[in-house]
Amino acid sequence: MVRDIINKSSDGTALTKEEIASLFRVPLFSEESAMVIAASRKKSEAAGRGLAEVHAQVGLNIAPCPKNCAFCAFAARNKVFREKVEISVDEAVQKAQQFETDGANAVFVMSTADYPFEKFADVSQEIRKSLRPETILVANVGDFSKEQAKKLKDTGFSGVYHAVRLGEGRDTTIPVETRLQTFRNAGEAGLLLGTCVEPVGNEHSIEELVEKTIITRDAKPVYSGSARRIPIPDTILAEHGIVSEAKMAHILAVVRLALGYDIPGNCTHEPNVIGAAAGANLLWAEAGSNPRDTDAETEGKRGMTVKDCIRVLEEAEWKVLKGPSKFYGA
Ligand code: SF4
Repeated sequence: MVRDIINKSSDGTALTKEEIASLFRVPLFSEESAMVIAASRKKSEAAGRGLAEVHAQVGLNIAPCPKNCAFCAFAARNKVFREKVEISVDEAVQKAQQFETDGANAVFVMSTADYPFEKFADVSQEIRKSLRPETILVANVGDFSKEQAKKLKDTGFSGVYHAVRLGEGRDTTIPVETRLQTFRNAGEAGLLLGTCVEPVGNEHSIEELVEKTIITRDAKPVYSGSARRIPIPDTILAEHGIVSEAKMAHILAVVRLALGYDIPGNCTHEPNVIGAAAGANLLWAEAGSNPRDTDAETEGKRGMTVKDCIRVLEEAEWKVLKGPSKFYGA
């Protein structure tokens, strides 16, 4: 039965909820699990034309965020950061230029949900001006309106990263519908969407993994994939521990098989070889603030450099794209 589901996915036919659940239920390290991973890798190679990408994110600020997502270091209730800290425009520009020089295929600009939108657009404009015109810029911000989506497009962003989180509305204060409306606002403004099934914890049910996988498929993104939750010390969710990279490799492989060839990218975070070998063809480097790090500057801590990410992909036998991201349509 698992073989039939895999064949159906490889043929390009959309899987049903039950079929996706069956793939998630396959025991790790079984022969069937090896088949899932092999088929995922093959599908990623075909969908991404044999190339992997490294995107790189500049975090603009640290602030106790009132949205209070339980898994995030910025959440006010997690009490990791009590002060607001913002990097200067010059620092943001310098970090973005460094990413471009290092060969990132796209540069992401991230802020917490309560960072003023106009300020985000202004800083991003300076970043845009400092980069080569062909360098792809992607926004990772809180939910935004139709008008704000248009402003992001006018600022020079090609796309956005946005997700309906596992536990959305339960571990966060944000309704799922708000996230979905942001997807639509982005699409209407011509911004391409990157998304992901994240942040995966040991407590998540197969049903929730399936539900969120289908949400990413229905959103028609340029990539989906799966990433695990990094425990923030002394928080409730940290009691569930951390999902192993081996299990994440299986989960991201199932997400790959659940999505069609029209979606070229399959991401995972944080970068690791087993995940990339199992079909993840998109990894992230990070600088500045990072919602999974308890250090204010993630470089040299949790955040990996572009070169680190390229090395991980090469260890997983990927050829890495040189030049602007093809996932975001260059
Ligand atoms: S994930 Fe975003 S919205 Fe949620 S607490 Fe962190 S910064 Fe705020």
